Amino acid sequence: MKKKIIPIAVIAVALIVALLLFDKFIINTAENSFFAMNTVCSSKISGKESDLVSKEIQAAVEKLDTDVLSRKNEKSSVSRLNRNMGGEIDEKFSEYFSVLLDVCEKSGGKFDFTLGAVSDLWDFGGSPSVPDEKTLSDALSHTGGEKLVLSGNSVDFEDNFTVDFGAAGKGIALDEIKDFLETTKTKEAVISVGGSILLYGEKNFTVGIKDPEGNAGRHVAVLNVGESCVSTSGSYERFFEENGKRYHHILDPDSGYPAQSGVVSVTVVSESGILSDALSTACFVLGIEKGGALAAEYSCETVFIDENKKLYVSEGLKDKIEISDTSYSLAEQ
Ligand code: ADP
Ligand code: MG
Repeated sequence: MKKKIIPIAVIAVALIVALLLFDKFIINTAENSFFAMNTVCSSKISGKESDLVSKEIQAAVEKLDTDVLSRKNEKSSVSRLNRNMGGEIDEKFSEYFSVLLDVCEKSGGKFDFTLGAVSDLWDFGGSPSVPDEKTLSDALSHTGGEKLVLSGNSVDFEDNFTVDFGAAGKGIALDEIKDFLETTKTKEAVISVGGSILLYGEKNFTVGIKDPEGNAGRHVAVLNVGESCVSTSGSYERFFEENGKRYHHILDPDSGYPAQSGVVSVTVVSESGILSDALSTACFVLGIEKGGALAAEYSCETVFIDENKKLYVSEGLKDKIEISDTSYSLAEQ
């Protein structure tokens, strides 16, 4: 009897070792980049079946864009709501609206997802120009997140505004990707959808904060953070010049003109993609003091860069940031 137990135990241990080794061998890394949500997206995924996971992520982002968030596709959920001044939505979409309504309220209306018609007048994505003042103020008079009523899975617009997810859609994509990754055997992933990045996995990641002066590929600082979503909003992303003046795409909902809060870039770190994205825009409009306080209400960390190349870093990131461009420095806080 004893003689039999020993070989069986040896075989079992050998099998487990072989399985572990096999497991290690079939982990691979897949890299992909594609264009969706009007921006460049990229993914680097390590784990089992990473090629397949990578393809499924691309398909999911494209589908979220086309079927739900895109204002260009008249069949998308957002286009349908805009056309009918509201309507029924699914549960997930209603949760997203509820988060955005909360950010809108807590930011005192500075984050406003009803600015679609106002952004269209500026046409940052097409042939931008400064809109006629009267046209701008007319469009602005019909905006205001507080005029969108959400009850259960139904949305009602109390005014004729245009909902636009430009400031939060990329973060929503990250939340959906994270939910999907949790159903796969992915060990680590870095996914970027424009200026919003998902860091997934149990390790420390380094992520660069882009040079606000727009020098492609250059970073002014590096963050060392664990699993999180990191979004940056900057005036350098989309802008044009007219009569020697520069106009960027993040608008102050009170004036309809580009926000001028003295900051050139805001990075928000959060567990949630929708919050990191929405708050980076809100913080840009609110500026360092009010924006920092808003992010803290949501337990999010921030890095603000002002026009004088000073970095304002929240408490939780102070030992996780390294400045890599010596023309930038930490502000005295
Ligand atoms: P990016 O699109 O460069 O990642 P943001 O996340 O900051 O930058 O979003 C900016 C976009 O959000 C604009 O292009 C516009 O569609 C929309 N937007 C502009 N100003 C506001 C605002 N105050 N609140 C909400 N959305 C805004
Ligand atoms: Mg944003």
